[in-house]
Amino acid sequence: MPLSGELFIGFERRATTRTFRAFDPAAARPLAPEFSAAGAAETEAACALAGSAFDAYRALPTERRALFLERIAQQILEQGEALLRRAHEETALPLARLEGERARTVNQLRLFAAELRTGEWLGLRLEPALPQRQPTPRPDLRQRKIPCGPVAVFGASNFPLAFSVAGGDSAAALAAGCPIVVKGHPAHPGTSEWVARAVVAAAAETDMPNGVFSLLNGPDTALGMSLVANPRIRAVAFTGSRGGGLALMKAAAERPEPIPVYAEMSSVNPVILLPAALAGRAESMAREFAASLTLGVGQFCTNPGLVLAIEGTGLQEFLEGAGGAVAAIAPGVMLTPDIRRNYEQRLGRMAGEEAVSLRARGLDSGGPHCGRAALFSASAASLLANPRLAEEIFGPASLVVSCANLDELLRVLEQLEGQLTMTLQMDEPDHPMAQALLPTLERKAGRLIVNGWPTGVEVAHAMVHGGPFPATSDGRSTSVGTLAIERFLRPVCYQGFPDALLPEPLRDGQVKQWPHRLEGSHRPGSPTS
Ligand code: NAP
Repeated sequence: MPLSGELFIGFERRATTRTFRAFDPAAARPLAPEFSAAGAAETEAACALAGSAFDAYRALPTERRALFLERIAQQILEQGEALLRRAHEETALPLARLEGERARTVNQLRLFAAELRTGEWLGLRLEPALPQRQPTPRPDLRQRKIPCGPVAVFGASNFPLAFSVAGGDSAAALAAGCPIVVKGHPAHPGTSEWVARAVVAAAAETDMPNGVFSLLNGPDTALGMSLVANPRIRAVAFTGSRGGGLALMKAAAERPEPIPVYAEMSSVNPVILLPAALAGRAESMAREFAASLTLGVGQFCTNPGLVLAIEGTGLQEFLEGAGGAVAAIAPGVMLTPDIRRNYEQRLGRMAGEEAVSLRARGLDSGGPHCGRAALFSASAASLLANPRLAEEIFGPASLVVSCANLDELLRVLEQLEGQLTMTLQMDEPDHPMAQALLPTLERKAGRLIVNGWPTGVEVAHAMVHGGPFPATSDGRSTSVGTLAIERFLRPVCYQGFPDALLPEPLRDGQVKQWPHRLEGSHRPGSPTS
C-alpha cells in the first residue's frame, strides 16, 4: 500500500488541508506524497484519546503489554525493504546503517518486553501491619510504581527508527503503561508512517485500547508546543537541539500543572588522552578517533567533539595522524539541509576564532548537502578564556585542546558543561592520573569509558545515556537501556488496604511471584509459588 500522508489519531487515519513534503537531501528534491499537518483539532483529538485509553491500557496484565511490544517489533520487520528504502531517501543514511538501526529498534522493543516480565519495574515494597507496636501501631504499607500518564514523544532526526516513532522513548513509555502521542520528525514523515502502520497493526492484533498510540506530523514548532501544553500529556521525551529542548522545558514548566521533560540535547563527549597512552599509541588512537568522529557524518549525540591532552610525547603525532585521517575522509550527505546549514555556520564561527587553528578539512564533494569533516586545535588557556569553544557542533567536527599539566586539565574539565560521555584513553602508568580525574568525570558525565570511543551505545540494562544539563534536562535518568522505563513511572503507597482492594501484584497471594522488598529485604520473585 503506498504512503497516504495521513495522521494517525488513535486507530483512525485523518487527512488535513495543510500539508508538507519530505525532502531527499541526497537528490535535493522534495518527495511525494503530501503529508497532512496536524492542527489544534487533531492534537486535541489524539491527546483526548490517549487520556481515555490510559486507565484501560495500564490495567492490562503485564504479559499483554509485553506481547504488544513484541508484535510491534515483528510488524516493523514485516514492513520489509519499503521501510528501509523510504528511510534511506528521507535521511540519506546508508541502507546498511538503517538495517542495523532497524535491528536495534526491534531489539529494544523485545528487551522492554523481557524487562516487563521480570517485574522489577513494579518496585514492590511491603511492610505488613504491626498492630502491637508501641507506642503506636504500624499500619500495613505497600508500594508499587504506576505509569505517569500519556507521554509526548518527539522523534529524533538522527535516528529515524531507533529514536523515532517506535524507538527507545516510545518503547519505554509503552512498557511503563503510558499511551503515547508521537510528534514525528518532519524530516522523515514517510518512515514515520511505515512504522506507525506497524504499531497500529500490532495494537489491533493484541486488542489494545484505541488511543494507546497516535502519530501527529507538522512542519513547524506550533504542533510540538501545543502537544506539550495539552493537559492530558503527563511527560515529554525529546532528542534534538538545545534550543528545542529548552523551549519544550519552558513550555512544560509554565503549564498550570507542570510536567517533566526528558530532553537529550547537547554534548561534546570529551576524550582525554593520558600521557602514557599518547606516548605509546598516538597513531592508532588518531585513526580510531577519526573513525569515531566521522561515523554517520558525525551525526551522533555521542560524537567525540572535544579531545583533551596533556602536552608531551605523542601529542604532535596524534594531531598529525588525526589531521591526515580527517583530510582523507569523503564527505557524506547530512540528514537535512538545516542540519547542514547549522553545521557550516558553527564551523565558520569556530574557524573565525583567533585562538583556534584549523588542522584539517575532509575531502570536498560539491554535493549540496554534504558535510565535510573538520579538525581544530587550541590551547587550554584559550578554552578557559572562551568556554563557547566547547559548544557542540553537530556533525563531523572536533577540537583538540592541549593542556600544560594535570592541574590545567582539571580546570578545563571543571569548566565544561554536563556531558553524555567522557572517555579516558590510558595505559597502566596513567592509572594514578585517571584516579585523580575520576571524581570530576563522575560529576560531569553519565557514562565513563576507558579505552573505547563514545559512539556506539549498547542497549542494555546497565547503560546510561544521560548526563547533567545540557546533555539532558534531567541527569537522574537515561534514554537508552531498560532503566529508561523509570522516567515514566511514579510510586504509590497503599496504606491499610484490605487485600481484595489492593492492586493485584501487591496482594498476599500474588506478591511472591514478583521481586519485592519485605521489611526492606530483597526477595526474588518465584512464579511457580
Ligand atoms: P530540533 O530542531 O531540535 O527538532 C527536533 C524536534 O523538536 C522536531 O520535531 C521539532 O519540530 C521540535 N522542535 C524543535 N524546536 C522546537 C520548539 N521551539 N518548539 C516546539 N518544537 C520544537 O532538532 P533537529 O531537527 O534534529 O536538528 C537541528 C539541530 O539539532 C542540529 O543541527 C543539531 O545541532 C541538533 N541535534 C542534536 C542532536 C543530539 O543528539 N545532540 C540530535 C539531533 C539534532 P519542528 O521541526 O516541526 O519545529
